[in-house]
Amino acid sequence: MSRQLHARRIEGIDKNVWVEFTQLAAEYKAVNLGQGFPDFPPPSFVQEAFCKAVSGGFALHQYTRAFGHPPLVKILAKFFGRIVGRDIDPLDDILVTVGAYQALFCTFQALIDDGDEVIIIEPFFDCYQPMVKMAGGKCVYVPLRPKKDKCETSADWVLSPGELASKFTSHTKAIILNTPNNPLGKVFNREELQVISDLCIKHDVLCISDEVYEWLTYNGAKHIKIASLPGMWERTITIGSAGKTFSATGWKVGWAIGSTHILKHLRTVHQNSVYHCPTAAQEAVAHGFQREFEQFGKPESYFIQLPANLQVKRQKLAQCLKSVGLQPIIPEGGYFMMADISAIKANLPDLPGQDEPYDHRFVKWLIKNKRLATIPVSAFYSHEHCKDFPNYIRFCFAKEDFTLNAAEKILQEWSESK
Ligand code: PMP
Ligand code: GLN
Repeated sequence: MSRQLHARRIEGIDKNVWVEFTQLAAEYKAVNLGQGFPDFPPPSFVQEAFCKAVSGGFALHQYTRAFGHPPLVKILAKFFGRIVGRDIDPLDDILVTVGAYQALFCTFQALIDDGDEVIIIEPFFDCYQPMVKMAGGKCVYVPLRPKKDKCETSADWVLSPGELASKFTSHTKAIILNTPNNPLGKVFNREELQVISDLCIKHDVLCISDEVYEWLTYNGAKHIKIASLPGMWERTITIGSAGKTFSATGWKVGWAIGSTHILKHLRTVHQNSVYHCPTAAQEAVAHGFQREFEQFGKPESYFIQLPANLQVKRQKLAQCLKSVGLQPIIPEGGYFMMADISAIKANLPDLPGQDEPYDHRFVKWLIKNKRLATIPVSAFYSHEHCKDFPNYIRFCFAKEDFTLNAAEKILQEWSESK
């Protein structure tokens, strides 16, 4: 074919950090603290619910309601209605999707038009940028910056309210918030959310709130739903993931929650693209939420137990990184820990690939030479700003202790050999 094959909307988005680094980690059989998935099983109550779903009659093997399996949307409405303090309509205000990825895709496709500006807070989960672009929108970036005097935890990375305000224009359609944030682990506090909310209301802008790590907060950090702030329900799309909620990323069940006047447009995209989502996984997730509804706030709750377990792993990884001269930024939430590699840079050989950001070269070197996989943090920055952050890598600590121990052994042997 001599004519141009590809659509212009996919130009410049062919590279993908997950494709590249997950493949490399597998090729070198590296200890994998890269891609964010647990290598421990989901809790038995959801596993059993899944097994029951697939070993029952015909119904759970067939299509279910396109916009969400009825038992799942019912319990999601009840569960999240209690949290945001308002009635959520299971049929109108919720859309079940193929993971949070598809909820994001439906949101951008449904709400972003040619030329609309979308404000993205850096560092950001990488798919936001290509998704905005495919919808015809324009990304406008605003950075979280480490405080000058102190950079120990993710709370030390802050937005400048003035800088944020300067990004809102008459073309701004939406801002995307991710709390707890991937890759930094920042959990936005109420004051920070209020600044965002005031600007959204003032400029009549939508807020897309990616909350896939909502249950994972540490040392008393509190996850707050921006949709629960006054005036925000009407303009917020809250996105969640059963993969992250129940440590079952392969089930690919996600959702978008918001007022029906917004959600009806997401349904239009969904009904003309994916239409149905897998029934049995939705049935199992419904059971999971039913169980958690009953256990809410109790020590037996998985939403209490999982963060308690991960907090110990977070501590373990932080100690290990410090002991080998890497400077971790302690996350307040989520699966990940960023670490500054500048201090060890000097002791390394000259790494190949001068045209790539340093962190990419470093991560490749670590995978190939030390068999340890992580993710370069510049992948979570815009093209314009990735050069300013070449010295951070991201570790996932949602892993079995034996995986964390194997990573520790690699790092310690390396440090001793220097
Ligand atoms: N948003 C963020 C911030 C993520 O880290 C991920 C990866 N879990 C997703 C969305 C996509 O989630 P899912 O696996 O449910 O599609
Ligand atoms: N959200 C996960 C991470 O950040 C997985 C992303 C992916 O595999 N595309 O690691």
